[in-house]
Amino acid sequence: MPISENMVQEIVQEVMAKMQIAEAPAGKHGIFKDMNEAIEAAKASQKIVRKMSMDQREKIITCIRKKIHENAELFARMGVDETGMGNVGDKILKHHLVADKTPGTEDITTTAWSGDRGLTLIEMGPFGVIGAITPTTNPSETILCNTIGMLAGGNTVVFNPHPAAIKTSLFAINLLNEASLESGGPDNIAVSVEKPTLETSAVMMKHKDIPLIAATGGPGVVTAVLSSGKRGIGAGAGNPPALVDETADVRKAAQDIVNGCTFDNNLPCIAEKEIVAVSSIADELMHYLITENDCYLASEEEQKALTEVVLKGGKLNRKCVGRDAKTLLSMIGVSVPANIRCIVFEGPKEHPLIAEELMMPILGVVRAKDFDDAVEQAVWLEHGNRHSAHIHSKNIDNITKYAKAIDTAILVKNAPSYAALGFGGEGYCTFTIASRTGEGLTSASTFTKRRRCVMSDSLCIR
Ligand code: NAD
Repeated sequence: MPISENMVQEIVQEVMAKMQIAEAPAGKHGIFKDMNEAIEAAKASQKIVRKMSMDQREKIITCIRKKIHENAELFARMGVDETGMGNVGDKILKHHLVADKTPGTEDITTTAWSGDRGLTLIEMGPFGVIGAITPTTNPSETILCNTIGMLAGGNTVVFNPHPAAIKTSLFAINLLNEASLESGGPDNIAVSVEKPTLETSAVMMKHKDIPLIAATGGPGVVTAVLSSGKRGIGAGAGNPPALVDETADVRKAAQDIVNGCTFDNNLPCIAEKEIVAVSSIADELMHYLITENDCYLASEEEQKALTEVVLKGGKLNRKCVGRDAKTLLSMIGVSVPANIRCIVFEGPKEHPLIAEELMMPILGVVRAKDFDDAVEQAVWLEHGNRHSAHIHSKNIDNITKYAKAIDTAILVKNAPSYAALGFGGEGYCTFTIASRTGEGLTSASTFTKRRRCVMSDSLCIR
């Protein structure tokens, strides 16, 4: 086959991008050998941030947004290269989303009561230095998004990132400090250590100068943070079911669910992890999944083989997390065309590939005899995480019933799950969804303290 000019250009771009990754600095600003030193630096920086005007904070945030846009592809390639998870195209979109839709200082507002007895305000003040723990699944996205919000609230932040995403995480921290310095702000608005471990995390959690810890990750880390004796924001695991009832536009539901489920190879904690379908439309849904949405129907034997690989020895195999459907199938010796995006099958809710949070494009379909049964099975599958759930229905009573029963921080109706992050839906973006501690989708105001400021019998000038 002759090589066209376009193909040559694509190859050159690919090589250039890889070279850029090789040359990307490990991170100079904000990176320390010792966790105590890192916290000291963030504390000194917070003293400066505390005195800055809201306009000055916003100026830094504007520069951060610009730098995220400029480096979106580099971040995406670094993340995939380092963790082996997700896909570059979707990770680029996630970074642009963080840059465009993470709230800044506009999220810091004042509530006022004015009347005969004077004027009372609620002002949102900073905590100081916040400790943050971040996952492998959205490493730079979480660090960038957390810092924008925390800085808008007047805080600085010390990160203990996942060791498996350290290069990408430190690159993000360096960029945040460069943005601050370029905008007239201090260095060390975000800091970390060269080698984060559970020990450095423990130092951070116990440190007297860290009043608040925001943990984004699985159940282990959230429990650790909530046992620290400090105030904790716990953004934990999910296992979001997508319920499809008999009133849904079934064809569109199939398309939306596969689009949400396959986004960044199913890494987002909000992504559809299984379907619960009312029996009367279950076959039609499966038909659309396979014939119109590039899903591969796994046989019983293939399901068993996948279970053995994906849940090796009963434990989630990290080598499978965030891999695409074709790669997962190749691990069990099944070769499929490149267009296959998702693996589907029908099974009971207890099927290990359905009940477990896998974070890969494997989508089991659970059949329910009617709507009430579907709600019951979906609630069981969500495991009380109160994280995310999705529904495809045109019946408002059904939607309301499901919303009340499942009681999650996020409920997307008739759209792919990523609409919850402001991608194809209204609202702001975050990669820290505080499911367990109830703050929901975090933003700058989440990282502030409410302060009541009272003037008695004066300043009411009505
Ligand atoms: P993980 O739990 O393995 O790691 C997350 C972070 O916690 C890492 O920095 C890790 O080093 C740290 N950690 C783990 N155990 C710890 C402990 N006992 N003490 C201190 N630190 C500890 O998670 P992951 O694989 O990186 O990410 C995937 C998980 O995170 C999934 O369960 C996903 O649902 C969840 N997640 C939730 C959100 C949310 O906003 N709710 C966002 C992204 C990911």
